[in-house]
Amino acid sequence: MKTIYEFGPGRAEGDGTWKELLGGKGAGLAEMCRLGLPVPPGFTIPTTVCPRYYASGGKVPADVMAGARKAIARLEKELGRGFGRADRPLLVSVRSGAAVSMPGMMDTVLNLGLSAACVEGLAKLSGNRRFALDARRRFIQMFGDVVAGVDHDAFEDVLAAAKREAGTDLDTGLDEAALEGVIAKYLEAYKAHTGQAFPEDPWEQLERSIAAVFGSWESDRAVKYRKIHGITNLGGTAVNVQAMVFGNLGARSGTGVAVILVRNETSPEDIGGMHAAQGILTATGGMTSHAAVVARGMGKCCVAGAGTVRIDYDAERFTAGDVVVKAGDVISLDGTAGEVLLGAVPTKPAVVTKEFDTLLGWADGFRRLGVRTNADTPRDAEVAYRYGAEGIGLCRTEHMFFDGDRITAVREMILAEAKEARDAALAKLLPMQRQDFVGIFKEMKGKPVTIRLLDPPLHEFLPHEPEQVRTVAESLKLPEGVVRDRARRLHEMNPMLGHRGCRLGITFPEIYEMQVRAIYEAAAAEVKAKRPVRPEVMIPLVGTRKELAILRERLTKVADDVLGKAKVKLPVVFGTMIEVPRAALQAEHVAHEAEFFSFGTNDLTQMTFGYSRDDAGSFLPAYIEQGILPEDPFQSLDQEGVGELIRMAVERGRRTRPGLKVGICGEHGGDPKSIAFCHRAGLDYVSCSPYRVPVARLAAAHAAIAERAAAKAGKAGKAGKAKASPKAKAVMPKAVKPKATKAKAARKVVAKARR
Ligand code: PEP
Ligand code: MG
Repeated sequence: MKTIYEFGPGRAEGDGTWKELLGGKGAGLAEMCRLGLPVPPGFTIPTTVCPRYYASGGKVPADVMAGARKAIARLEKELGRGFGRADRPLLVSVRSGAAVSMPGMMDTVLNLGLSAACVEGLAKLSGNRRFALDARRRFIQMFGDVVAGVDHDAFEDVLAAAKREAGTDLDTGLDEAALEGVIAKYLEAYKAHTGQAFPEDPWEQLERSIAAVFGSWESDRAVKYRKIHGITNLGGTAVNVQAMVFGNLGARSGTGVAVILVRNETSPEDIGGMHAAQGILTATGGMTSHAAVVARGMGKCCVAGAGTVRIDYDAERFTAGDVVVKAGDVISLDGTAGEVLLGAVPTKPAVVTKEFDTLLGWADGFRRLGVRTNADTPRDAEVAYRYGAEGIGLCRTEHMFFDGDRITAVREMILAEAKEARDAALAKLLPMQRQDFVGIFKEMKGKPVTIRLLDPPLHEFLPHEPEQVRTVAESLKLPEGVVRDRARRLHEMNPMLGHRGCRLGITFPEIYEMQVRAIYEAAAAEVKAKRPVRPEVMIPLVGTRKELAILRERLTKVADDVLGKAKVKLPVVFGTMIEVPRAALQAEHVAHEAEFFSFGTNDLTQMTFGYSRDDAGSFLPAYIEQGILPEDPFQSLDQEGVGELIRMAVERGRRTRPGLKVGICGEHGGDPKSIAFCHRAGLDYVSCSPYRVPVARLAAAHAAIAERAAAKAGKAGKAGKAKASPKAKAVMPKAVKPKATKAKAARKVVAKARR
C-alpha cells in the first residue's frame, strides 16, 4: 500500500479530485502544485493509513515512518536545509485533512523541528532573532497542548504574566529577553505536566505529531461534529506534512484567509468573490439587497448598507468618517448589530449541541407550518436538509448562471439576435442546469423542490468590463463594437421594474423552455435511478392570469414531451410567486392557473410601498426614527399593508382552488415575527435561507403554542402572554443562563448599517 504522496511546485502525486484518499487539504495542495503555484513542498499520508493507526493501538505504522523519513530527506535536499540541523533547520507543519472539511475539529502542529539547538540558526536565516524565539515558544505550546495533552491554560498563564510584566496587551509587545523567559517557563510547565523533558529530537516530534493528528479523528469534538453533520462514510483523516513558510516574519509577510469583500453594492458578478470572502460589507443596499440575500444563503456574515462607508476602488481603500481602511487592513463585521469594527475581534465558532437538536425536536411536535429552504446549489440543499428543511421553497435558478463558463453562455444567449445563435447558447446551458437539478434532487431525497424560472433583470447579465465584452464577442464571432452596442441597447432605466421575471419567459420563450426541459430531464433520470423526486415549477413576477396561462400551456408541453420520451410518469406541478400587488388582488383568477402560491415578500414589499429594496437605506432610518414605520419592512413583514395583501390573496386564491398550497419565500420567511403572521394567515409553509431553518422551526412552534394558549384563554390576539402547554412543560429543561460570548476586547466601531 502506498503511504506517502509527495507534492511540490509543478509536481504532485494526485490532483484536486483525490479527496477521498488525500483529504480535502491534500487534494487541494496536489491540485495547486499541478497548476504550478508556488506551494511549499511536502507530502500527504493518505486517509487509508488512519484505520491502520487505530488497528495498531495508536501507533504510526513503521512503513509509514520509513516513508516519511525518505520524503523528509527529499525535502532537505530540495530546500537545502536539514531536519534538526542547527544552522539551517528544516521546519514543517503537520496538519489533518479529511475528505469532508471539519473546520477546527482536528489537530495541527506548526514549526515542528524547531528544537533548542536550532533557534539561533533560524534567527540567522531569518535575520530576526525575536521571530525565531517566538516561533520556538509557539511550537512548545502547540506540541505541548496538542500532542502531550498539557493544559492549554498552563501556557496561557505564563504568557499573560509575561505580558503583564512587560506592560503590553500584545504578543508582539514581548521582546527577545521576555520571550527567552517565557520559553524557559514553558519548558518547566511541560515537564511539570508530563513528567518528562520536552522532546528535542525532531523525528520523535514528527512521529508523535502524526500520531496526534490521526488520534484527533476520534476526539470527542470530531466525533460529535461528524454525528451532527451526518458525516458517516469516511474512513479517517489524512495527514499533511509541509515545509513551513512564515506569515509572521515581518510587515511584508502575511497569512490568513481572504476576511472581507467591500463593495458599494454586489451584483451576481460578485458571486466568486463572495464565495472566497469570509464576510461582505456594502455601502448601499439593505435587508433584501443582493448582498444580504446571497450572503444569508451562504451562511456568511454581511453588513449591507453601511452608509458612511465611501469606497475608492482605484486607491484600494475606504473611509468611514475620518477613519481610512486600506486593502489588507484587518476589519471585523458584526452582522447582527450591523457594525464594522477596526481590527480582529475574537470569535468562536457556533457549536450545534445535542440539546439544540432536542429543542428543535420539541418544536417540531408543536408547529403546524412547514419549513422549507431557499437553496440554489446542492451544497445549500445539503446544509438545509441537515438543519431540518422539509423541502426547497425557492431555488433561484439565476444564481446557477454565474459560475465558471456559464456566464459567457448566458451572455451569448442574451446578446444573440438570431434564434439560432440563442438556441446554440441555450444548448450549452442545458446540461449544466440539468446537472444542478440532479444534485439538488439527490440532496433533498424526495422532498418537494420548488424551482423558480429565471427572474432577475437582464442587465445583471450584461458584459460591462472590456474583458467580458471581448470573451462574448469571440464566442459569438462578432466584433466587440457590436456586442457593446447590443449591451447598451438592453440597458434599462429601472431594471427592477423592467424586463425580468415572467416577462422574460414571454419574450424569450426558449429560455424557460430550456429550464423546464432541464428540470424534467433531471427528474426523469432520478426516477429511472429509483430515487424519489418532487419538482415544482414556479413562475416569477406574475401580474395577470394571462401571463401565467400562456407560460403554463407552453411549458407543460415541454415537460410532457420530456416525460413521454423518457417513459416516466410524474405529476407536472406549476405555481406562481405572488410578488406584484396586482397578482395578490387578482388571486382569485390567478389561482385557476396555479397549483401553489409563494409570496415573494421582498418584491411585494418593494412594490406595495414603492420603496426600492436596494435604495431604501437612505431614508428608512429617518422613517423609523420619526415613528412613521415601526421597523424596516424588508426585515420584518409589514403586517398591516403587505400582510393585508397576503391575507386577501390567500382567501381569494383558496376560493377558486380550495386545496391551494401557499407559502412564503421572501426574506421574511426566516423572521420570527413574520413567521407568526404566516401561521395566523393560514400559510402552509415558510421558506428561508438554510442557516435560518432552525430559527424558523422554533418560531413556527412558538406561533402554534401562542395560538393554542390564546384560544384557551379566550383572548385571541393576546398571544404574547401564552404559556407553554403541559406537554411542553414536562420535557423542557430549566433555563440555562447563557455564557457571555462577546469579545472582551475594546470594539472600535467605524461604520454601521442603516437600520
Ligand atoms: C421575493 O421577491 O421575495 C423573492 C423571493 O424573490 P427575489 O428576492 O429573488 O426577487
Ligand atoms: Mg422577487
